[in-house]
Amino acid sequence: MSSTGRRVPAIAVALAGIVLITSVLILGGGVGTPWFQRAYGDLIELFVAAAAAATAGWAAVHSTGRTRLMWLFAGIASGSWAAGEAVWSWYELARGIDTPFPSLADVGFLMFPVAACVALLVLPSRGSDLDRGRRVLDATLATTGLALVSWETALGAVAAAGGDNPLAFAVSLAYPLSDFLLLALLVLTLTRAVASRAQLVLLAAGMAALSVSDSGFAYLTTEGSYDGGAIDLGWVFGFVLLALAPLVSVRRAVEDEDAPALRRSSFLPYIPVVIAGALTVGKALTGHRATTGQTGLVGVIVALVLVRQYLTLRENTGLADELATREAQLRHQAFHDALTGLANRALFQDRLGHALDLHARDLRPVSVLFLDIDDFKLINDSMGHGAGDELLLRIAERLGTSLRTGDTVARLGGDEFAILLEDDGDPVVVAGSIEAALQAPFVVKGRPVTVGTSIGVVALQPADAATTADALLAKADTAMYAAKRGGKGQLRVFREGMSLTELADNRMSEALAAAVAAGELRLEYQPIVNLDTGAIAAVEALARWSYEGREVPPSEFIAVAERTGVIADLTDWALDEACRQLAVWSRTPSRAELQITVNIAPPQVTDDDFVRRVADVLAKHDVSPGRLVLEITESSLLADVEVARRVTAALRATGVRISLDDFGVGFSSLSQLHAIELDIVKIDRSFIDRLDTDPRQVRFLGSLLRLGADLGLDVVAEGVERGRQLELVRELGCRLVQGYLLARPMPADRLPVALVAPA
Ligand code: C2E
Ligand code: MG
Ligand code: MG
Repeated sequence: MSSTGRRVPAIAVALAGIVLITSVLILGGGVGTPWFQRAYGDLIELFVAAAAAATAGWAAVHSTGRTRLMWLFAGIASGSWAAGEAVWSWYELARGIDTPFPSLADVGFLMFPVAACVALLVLPSRGSDLDRGRRVLDATLATTGLALVSWETALGAVAAAGGDNPLAFAVSLAYPLSDFLLLALLVLTLTRAVASRAQLVLLAAGMAALSVSDSGFAYLTTEGSYDGGAIDLGWVFGFVLLALAPLVSVRRAVEDEDAPALRRSSFLPYIPVVIAGALTVGKALTGHRATTGQTGLVGVIVALVLVRQYLTLRENTGLADELATREAQLRHQAFHDALTGLANRALFQDRLGHALDLHARDLRPVSVLFLDIDDFKLINDSMGHGAGDELLLRIAERLGTSLRTGDTVARLGGDEFAILLEDDGDPVVVAGSIEAALQAPFVVKGRPVTVGTSIGVVALQPADAATTADALLAKADTAMYAAKRGGKGQLRVFREGMSLTELADNRMSEALAAAVAAGELRLEYQPIVNLDTGAIAAVEALARWSYEGREVPPSEFIAVAERTGVIADLTDWALDEACRQLAVWSRTPSRAELQITVNIAPPQVTDDDFVRRVADVLAKHDVSPGRLVLEITESSLLADVEVARRVTAALRATGVRISLDDFGVGFSSLSQLHAIELDIVKIDRSFIDRLDTDPRQVRFLGSLLRLGADLGLDVVAEGVERGRQLELVRELGCRLVQGYLLARPMPADRLPVALVAPA
């Protein structure tokens, strides 16, 4: 029980108690003969000083950094004092003579305040410079107060005594001066140190007791009346406290680690001021006249106190300002999106509510645009959330610059933005210009990224004046979903009845997921004809789904599948089914060369694992890779061209061919031609559409075909519906054609062996 670490301080405290009581009895109470008192005094002081040096040394060994330095110097302070005391005792006890003044002992004693000052200076202190000005003032205030006290007591008397021996005079002056310095430093340290409270109080009290005794010793020695007694008691007391300080600190170290600096420290600088004031008043009352120096010091103190009060006042005003700024910041945070700095949903609803009020009063126009970024999830997944955030930021910037100052742009969350328009302009025109503004590529992580946006528009009609902000926003949202359903990059104006479709949309996505899982989708095949031979070169596999007795157009359910992530399973299924069917056809010799094209969606193009799955399916159905064509759309390449390049290259390396579908619709089409290695391009229907009516389309198709030939690509003309179109296509030298004119998509069992192309 007595040997555990926690018990050590208890023993030390007990020992300290015994030392103090005995010392009070012998040194203060005059118990024993004068020689005994003297011997006891010398030895007990030597003992406690050595003990203080030892515990400080021990603490230095067990601590690190500046705390270790602090204890080291505290140990040096006590140690040198102990050495001085040893010299002193040697004169008095061994040689039996009065110690000469000055002597070697004084060197040891004087080392104490010097080393103690260093210890205080290296003590870790608060780094904040919030109240630095006040702290400097505090130090000056305390120092001035102490100077006055010191002058009234030791320093003034010692200086006044002068002396014939210059060395003795210097040494006796050194005592009060160094103690004065130490006391001032102590006051200063107590106001700013971040150390254990118990430890600091013990250290400070110990050092204070020691320096008061030291100064008393110097004063009495000058007067020639020093004879131990209370002065010695001060030393014993001081060193006992110093010896205990490191032990207490160790026991409390953990709990006190985060203890705040002394709270009441702000009054500490006033203590010397109060004492100085009391002394001055006391002197005045006893009829002494103050010297000019003293009056001057009092004046300085009064001035300093006034400045200090002023600074405190200013600090409080500063605090109030800071609070106001902080509050404004918090208010801003509550109403703005942290990422983009745009208004958030709360602020948007507030502004919209306000706009509706104005509308109710004077029919001010109100419209809301609801904006959603197409395939944003894809960018997030393939390029990382950092890239996603960067893209949102860039979009927010562009939205900000493409609108007028009166409009409110908000980020509602995720990739959803809302815009409130409150003027006479046509919201559809504004929406169109926003769509255009967002079309140019964004630079994200140093790479160009193109995004599409689906925009829902709702304009407040005079009839629904009583609507709420929430209801209007919900309508814009519904219109946006309708835009998404219609494919990407679309714009829709809200119509009554859309809400039903929207509701149906959610049910549809669940039903679609279930249908894919249950294998309830079908594939139809549309021939791609080789005009040279009239044979079916390939068939494009197109998914079909009937839901609640209705055939849902692929444009609708593929969009739903992409939004909900079902597309991955859908693609895997389509790939498997198409290859299975191809294997069946291959058993007919005339179809041994037939190729199949399967549409794949954006997520697959940036999925490295997709390459392995394709190879697995081919192996499973024993289909050679050269007979499979994967059709990708430009939007697949939007998210991350680098990854798309890698995945398509890996696919091509297995022998599978890549076709760029709907070529010419996306404005960056041409740049994709060299970004990705391709085998085939399919010219979009829209270019074939006016071929027979617009001569420019003919020239355009002609140059596209030459470009394809130069790049070594096969070119497929898609959507040929009329004979004249076919003629022109053939004349321009296009060999591969797909369209209703030749054949519509059909079930596998209806596929003819060859199609004779109409001339
Ligand atoms: P797509 O890949 O461009 O497919 C061609 C679409 O054009 C098909 O529509 C086809 O029926 C239609 N088409 C063919 N010839 C003509 C014509 O002469 N005139 C007109 N007006 N249309 C013609 P469908 O089957 O409705 O598919 C629409 C889109 O849905 C496809 O466009 C494709 O992007 C997507 N899709 C269909 N099945 C799948 C699938 O299994 N997976 C994926 N990811 N997308 C699919
Ligand atoms: Mg296609
Ligand atoms: Mg197409």
